[in-house]
Amino acid sequence: MRTARQEDWNTEPLPPERTSIHLEMAFTMEETEIIRRGLIPEQMEDKWFIYWNDGRLFFHRSWTGHCIYVVHFRDDGDSCRMVGADVNRNPEQYGGTSDEEDAGMIPFLVDLLLLHRSGTFPGSGGTPEETALLSWSQVGRAMLGLHPGPDSVDPSGDSGADKMKSGGKVCEHEVWMRRAIQEANDSSLNGDAPVAAILVQNGRVLAVGHNSKTSSRCGIAHAEMNALLEAREKLGRRPERAAIYCTLEPCAMCLGAICFAGVKTLVYGAPDRAGGAVGMFLQHPFYSGLMPAVTAGVLEEECEALKKLPSFG
Ligand SMILES: [Zn+2]
Repeated sequence: MRTARQEDWNTEPLPPERTSIHLEMAFTMEETEIIRRGLIPEQMEDKWFIYWNDGRLFFHRSWTGHCIYVVHFRDDGDSCRMVGADVNRNPEQYGGTSDEEDAGMIPFLVDLLLLHRSGTFPGSGGTPEETALLSWSQVGRAMLGLHPGPDSVDPSGDSGADKMKSGGKVCEHEVWMRRAIQEANDSSLNGDAPVAAILVQNGRVLAVGHNSKTSSRCGIAHAEMNALLEAREKLGRRPERAAIYCTLEPCAMCLGAICFAGVKTLVYGAPDRAGGAVGMFLQHPFYSGLMPAVTAGVLEEECEALKKLPSFG
């Protein structure tokens, strides 16, 4: 694979909101040569663009171009040491706030993405599934040992995401939908319709919404509306990569709100043949242009089963 250069990708500079951390890791000159080649993403599942310039290694998110890390190296003649990094602390660009976590993440990314050595993911998302998702959002298909370049061709022809699914490891949509189903069950305990929606961005939950029409005596308190309203400040005007997972196909009100909020991905479980609006919006001359990418039928049977709970409808 050829050496990455800054002009290979649309990048943004490191913002003024930043911090400096200390790092200590030595590399042989051979390893340093490989590190200096950087990384040019080839697929959606490649999460980083990395290039070397003047003793510094720049880490940019492949989707947004945001610069997250600038890692400093010192050449000691027969070896090269990683000595520190400037880390993005603009919350609109990067959710990380822990210097310690970043100090663990940078050597892990260098090892995994550039030197193709496996290691234990240093982040923690709580449950093993959440950790796997966080790891997927950080390193994508590299988590499966798949890297850009000629050695990355997977004989099955599956993309990393397909492989995740077929290998039964973790399917991102299913993990979030399973969480939504649990939340929907919870709302039925309050006497509300067992419907839930989860807003997710970059592997993190922004908001969880339950249907609360009965308990709040409010006709518009649908799960999606509650989630969108709860997350409105976090979503702001930068809803890139935000996805909403709904156990039930959204109605016209909620789907309109999803469109206007700028949510980019809609995943739902069970169709709502009476009130579901997805088909109608996709055919509508105006709303079709605002529609997120739609994936239907994720864990459909389980979502369909929620309709049999006494509080449904
Ligand atoms: Zn609705």
